[in-house]
Amino acid sequence: MKYDVTVIGSGPGGYVAAIRCAQLGLTTAIIEKYNTLGGTCLNVGCIPSKALLDSSEHYHNAKEKFTEHGIDLTNLKVNMPQMIQRKNAVVEQTTKGIDFLMKKNKITVFHGHGSFIDANTINVAKADGSNETIETNKVIIATGSKPIAPAAFNYDKNRVITSTEALNIEDVPKSMVIIGGGVIGLELGSVYARLGSEIHVVEYMDRILPTMDKDCSKELTRAMKKLGVKFHVKHMVTTVKANKKSVTVEVQKRDSEDTFKLNTDYCLVAIGRRAYTDKLGLDKVGIPTDEKGRVEVDAHLQTNVPGIYAIGDVIKGAMLAHKAEEEGVFVAETIAGQKPHIDYNLIPGVVYTWPEVAAVGKTEEQLKEAGVAYKSGKFPFKALGRARASMDTQGMVKVLADANTDEILGVHMVGPRTADMIAEAVALMEFRASAEDASRMSHAHPTYTEAFKEAALAATEDRALHI
Ligand code: FAD
Ligand code: NAD
Repeated sequence: MKYDVTVIGSGPGGYVAAIRCAQLGLTTAIIEKYNTLGGTCLNVGCIPSKALLDSSEHYHNAKEKFTEHGIDLTNLKVNMPQMIQRKNAVVEQTTKGIDFLMKKNKITVFHGHGSFIDANTINVAKADGSNETIETNKVIIATGSKPIAPAAFNYDKNRVITSTEALNIEDVPKSMVIIGGGVIGLELGSVYARLGSEIHVVEYMDRILPTMDKDCSKELTRAMKKLGVKFHVKHMVTTVKANKKSVTVEVQKRDSEDTFKLNTDYCLVAIGRRAYTDKLGLDKVGIPTDEKGRVEVDAHLQTNVPGIYAIGDVIKGAMLAHKAEEEGVFVAETIAGQKPHIDYNLIPGVVYTWPEVAAVGKTEEQLKEAGVAYKSGKFPFKALGRARASMDTQGMVKVLADANTDEILGVHMVGPRTADMIAEAVALMEFRASAEDASRMSHAHPTYTEAFKEAALAATEDRALHI
């Protein structure tokens, strides 16, 4: 048979695109080279990292906060194999859920490496050495990304690792050097710092999370230093040498010749990810990639070949699961003749440390650079009753609004459950609300969300109520 649509890659971009295509009545196939569906996100990304973040946070709270809550524990210890086993069980349940969704939506799943023969024919090379050919009208490339591991860092998957291996360490390391103070470095650094590892983060830029609002970097730096994490910003790693049991990392100050060495159990390389198009046969159909190896697409996420689209980490933009999902839906609806829309400015970014960091819209740095006149309102969690009750007083909410119209232009949060709280800001910004609109909405008391209302009040008229 000839499929209407074939999706290559089953991450959050690919499987969501396939479901939406099927919902729209298109006969759909999906190809995944691994045995399990779900891509990076479900197998070695979002879901397993959050499982370990939650487990390690429970341990950290039990160790550091329970006594103050009036709960005494004895013989508290980490059972790392059990922690990993639970994480694996969560991954298994979640990936099996995608199998169910494929069946429910009558999507045909092919396991094997997909590659173009021509624009309407895809070869699937299977693990047993056999090949199968799929005929299709349209193709959606959703092949995702892989960690960047420069040869100079001698990535050996044993002592010099990426996030994939860092999710499966079965003994709590005594120490870990993390190259890169971005999202992965800070999330996985938090996991191991909470479990008792000595963590060093080496970041090339002047601050961690260099693309997020400066206040968020400052707040999170403070919080993670309390956790014991050591930061080396404006530093770079020059060499990484590993033996079977340890690693020596040479670090150089960015703007001088000064160097020092760190001897450590593991070196985690977390300096970004690259688009993955290996052996995809893009050359067979004449689809170009850009300077970063990403598939080039137009405003409809269509490549230069009519009928071949690309979504998610393999194209430009933030490497986020929910961005990939939005693009999956967008392409499916485009193929079905609809006119969907994505506002990339309103895709939130979240870092699942504790406190969590969450943001949407423009940063203060971006507004300054664009010469936009803006007002800023801030509210600290330490002034919030709910935060004091839960002993989660670190962080703040900042609302940036247009100085003339009061329209909310950006919201930046560091604090408890801000990953969930940011949805309110996204919704308001989708409807182009003003800071005053946000400040006049009733927020349940006592909740963390009151910090957003207070920051909106501070942005509108500098009249927060509780500070
Ligand atoms: P992927 O999820 O990478 O999926 C691509 C799939 O295509 C893979 O399964 C791959 O095997 C398959 N494939 C590739 N080539 C072929 C081929 N030729 N034939 C067949 N199959 C092929 N994002 C968030 O939004 N929130 C988070 O909390 C978060 N946490 C993360 C934590 C970690 C440790 C990592 C590494 C990433 C995290 N991300 C998070 C990022 C998120 O995982 C990615 O943005 C998302 O998975 C991208 O989805 P995708 O569908 O584009 O690609
Ligand atoms: P990143 O881009 O978030 O951070 C990489 C960091 O490494 C940057 O701060 C960069 O300045 C620094 N860096 C780069 N080269 C360096 C060098 N040679 N020496 C020192 N520092 C260097 O990348 P990541 O943390 O690897 O994550 C990859 C992708 O996965 C990101 O795009 C992210 O969006 C996604 N992800 C998202 C989440 C989430 O949404 N919570 C979680 C994990 C990963």
